[in-house]
Amino acid sequence: MDKVSVSDINFRGRKVLVRVDFNVPLNDQQEITDDRRIRAALPTLKKIIDDGGMVIACSHLGRPKGKFVAEMSLRPVATRLADLLGKEVTFAEDCVGPEAANVVDKMQPGDCVLLENLRFHKAETENDEEFAKKLASLADIYVNDAFGSAHRAHASTEGVARLFNQAVAGFLMEKELAYLGDALAEPKRPFAAILGGAKISGKIDVIENLIGKVDKLLIGGGMVFTFAKARGYAIGDSLVEEDRIDMAKQIFEKVNDSSTKLYFPVDAVIAAEISDNAQTDTVDIEEIPDAMKGLDIGPRSVELFRDALKDCKTIVWNGPMGVFEHEPFAAGTKAIAETLADLTDGGATTIIGGGDSASAVKQLGLEERLSHISTGGGASLEFLEGKELPGVAALTAKSQVGAV
Ligand code: AMP
Repeated sequence: MDKVSVSDINFRGRKVLVRVDFNVPLNDQQEITDDRRIRAALPTLKKIIDDGGMVIACSHLGRPKGKFVAEMSLRPVATRLADLLGKEVTFAEDCVGPEAANVVDKMQPGDCVLLENLRFHKAETENDEEFAKKLASLADIYVNDAFGSAHRAHASTEGVARLFNQAVAGFLMEKELAYLGDALAEPKRPFAAILGGAKISGKIDVIENLIGKVDKLLIGGGMVFTFAKARGYAIGDSLVEEDRIDMAKQIFEKVNDSSTKLYFPVDAVIAAEISDNAQTDTVDIEEIPDAMKGLDIGPRSVELFRDALKDCKTIVWNGPMGVFEHEPFAAGTKAIAETLADLTDGGATTIIGGGDSASAVKQLGLEERLSHISTGGGASLEFLEGKELPGVAALTAKSQVGAV
């Protein structure tokens, strides 16, 4: 990785502004229902504390749209963070201004402060320079460990990073960049991408970027049917984006002219409705009857995909193969997740690009058996699109500082 990381730095005596992703789910009683994001930040926070640095953690939570919303306060997160760190965490009622400055002024080496929700100020999402300056004035050095927010040029992810001499990647960010970056830059081949999810429109830039880069491209999910219609197949009442049919045709042509081999489902699980007790049938992909919807890849497609993947050394997966939220249409997604887990055991590098495929893998309890599950759905998609993420671009490059 080209970016300076927390492991390159001794934080002793330094105040460190750490952008973390504490955007955790809360229930009606303001209780945290899943604290994985807080746990994920612990290695970076502990490293700073163990060095004798001072952690000033900041994050967004939800979409308060620039005003104080009590239900989106980070206060419950401060309590949980204190439990997980086994030390006191002081909560600052605002992320900038006198409230934050007072709390930060009193800090001693090894202390930890959590600032209130950044998005209570609309200046955060506007990447306002004055707001970024106020945040920067609290600390000596900046760490970004919030990969999931790195595709947004916000004050706490982009603007602020440019105001420090050193803006470095946290452990979580480092791991994301190592997996996603290496996968694209120097993959062990054969390299496969599996793309699914609802629509072509959400993944078009990813597909275009990966053609010619991956050896095998496997397509599943709802987007299959726009491609199928482009080929002239009968798609019944399946999800289709009429305005993307020409685009689908162009993609077929581009793939044909490239080194990438396309794997397209040969059968589909169909039903008249999306429900947990739907009556299903399996038909050839070309022949979906009127009024029926294609809602998962069928067993022959699973076999085709398994066979295509079996010799692959690097596999990136984004988007479920079917409407996996409902049991009758979950088999394709499950089979792919299990196949990837087995291939990982056999030495392949498997990377799940956040979002729904990450939830599916977690639901199946296969999380530990895959190489890497990205914490950022949107951010990992933009990475796969070949875009530079603003929050990553703003970090200090090793080449900028020489040996650190
Ligand atoms: P995305 O956010 O684009 O990755 O899409 C994820 C969603 O795609 C999930 O909620 C799935 O239920 C949905 N999906 C997958 N396959 C299909 C399908 N064949 N028809 C309709 N929706 C689908």
